[in-house]
Amino acid sequence: MAFEAAQSQLIGSLRTGLYVDGTWRDASAGATFDVEDPATGEVLTTVADATPEDGMAALDAAAAAQGSWARTAPRERAEILRRAFESVTARADDFALLMTLEMGKPLAEARGEVTYGAEFLRWFSEEAARVSGRYAIAPDGKARLMVHKRPVGPCLFITPWNFPLAMATRKIAPAIAAGCTMVVKPAALTPLTTLLLTSVLEEAGLPSGVLNVVPTSDAGGVTGPLLRDPRLRKLSFTGSTEVGRRLLKDSADQVLRTSMELGGNAPFLVFEDADLDAALDGAMLAKLRNMGEACTAANRFLVHASVAEEFGSRLAQRMAALPVARGTEEDSKIGPLIDEKSRQKVQELVDDAVGTGGRVLTGGQPQAGAGYFYPPTVISGVGSDARILAEEVFGPVAPIVTFTDEDEAVAMANDTEFGLVGYAYTRDVSRTLRLADTLESGMLGINVGVVSNPAAPFGGVKQSGLGREGGFEGIEEYLETKYVGLADPFGG
Ligand code: NAP
Repeated sequence: MAFEAAQSQLIGSLRTGLYVDGTWRDASAGATFDVEDPATGEVLTTVADATPEDGMAALDAAAAAQGSWARTAPRERAEILRRAFESVTARADDFALLMTLEMGKPLAEARGEVTYGAEFLRWFSEEAARVSGRYAIAPDGKARLMVHKRPVGPCLFITPWNFPLAMATRKIAPAIAAGCTMVVKPAALTPLTTLLLTSVLEEAGLPSGVLNVVPTSDAGGVTGPLLRDPRLRKLSFTGSTEVGRRLLKDSADQVLRTSMELGGNAPFLVFEDADLDAALDGAMLAKLRNMGEACTAANRFLVHASVAEEFGSRLAQRMAALPVARGTEEDSKIGPLIDEKSRQKVQELVDDAVGTGGRVLTGGQPQAGAGYFYPPTVISGVGSDARILAEEVFGPVAPIVTFTDEDEAVAMANDTEFGLVGYAYTRDVSRTLRLADTLESGMLGINVGVVSNPAAPFGGVKQSGLGREGGFEGIEEYLETKYVGLADPFGG
């Protein structure tokens, strides 16, 4: 079959070693670990399993390359990124297929992620040459103030499995643009896309030591010693709040710069004046993009009591109609969840919601057979103490609760430790502006179901994290501000 041939050719052509100091090599202990296809549970390939010594060798390379890389002309760094953007775009089919194979999302969504992920390479290639500073006369006229930007230094990147390309380029591209070197530890469940991206960046002319990649089955063992090493200057992590908290504590000893893109619990508010058709379109996207396995996924649907019944039954109807199938099948709209552990957690939260009085309108049980499939699920009338309202479900499950006025809706939306993103559907402009002030989140979508955009600052407040990725803000995370005081040139 054509697809099987494409799969084995792609997998067979991948570099699956560690990439350290510009060289592909085996892990020092010679070990490898398996990467599975979550749609079948079958092993796709094996990848070199880095040891703590390999992690340290990667930091040695990053530290050695930092000085010369920081002095590279910004335009040269920009052009490497631009060539990488063009190459990822030219190889979009390979990247999309690889992501579908190792992560499970339908091919159409994987293609969308290629466009999104590649755009960080282009955006930051454009930003690389725009870094600047300022020069001023001190207010008393007796000194000159020069402020310029310097690369932070060697960075450690730890990435999650849910967006294997975009979560890598969102960190790697601004670091390259700013003149930082790096060690990347991709998620053990989905390291292949990062390895293909590494080949692309190598071919684009990235000098040895700037990017070092160490897949491992021992995340803490490999990254812990790096966090304690004074040569490392920054940690950028995307993943769960639980792991993020631990890494923040570990980063305190060296007072590391940190960027933390952590978990979410996004409220999706539907007001009585909403365009219900548009709200349903937005809900489908906000809930089902990436099978609900997104930090930005709508986790709680807060719907005005006057439209809740219609919204719930129409959402259930639309969600029930979606084909659940392996992402490589042409008509697949919902692929498998990442693993059995995730599927069990989804089921636990569904059962708990039903226990609080929730009524399942569609779905509610895992799909039998191979792979970790779970059908789109809508639950109305969920009790206020349901765990699903407090915890990330990370699956295609939409719990619905009702409110009667804006104050109550905002209080419910903010009743969480998270603050990544919120969504609201309303036609009232004043209400929109109030929500922009009152909702506690780093991002807000108004009458839109997806807000992610490489040109915009992505990030959260509260326990959803620290720092921003993308936009003009994204490169600042990799720059230090340095002030140089100069004597008055007129000798005053
Ligand atoms: P995770 O379990 O926290 O893992 C994320 C990364 O951290 C993986 O590479 C993992 O390695 C590594 N890791 C785990 N324990 C570690 C330790 N003790 N020391 C060092 N590294 C460690 O999260 P996930 O399940 O992959 O991703 C889902 C989570 O990411 C969700 O909570 C989601 O909301 C969040 N997320 C946030 C954003 C955002 O931008 N805010 C974007 C996407 C996802 P292994 O692979 O070896 O476990």
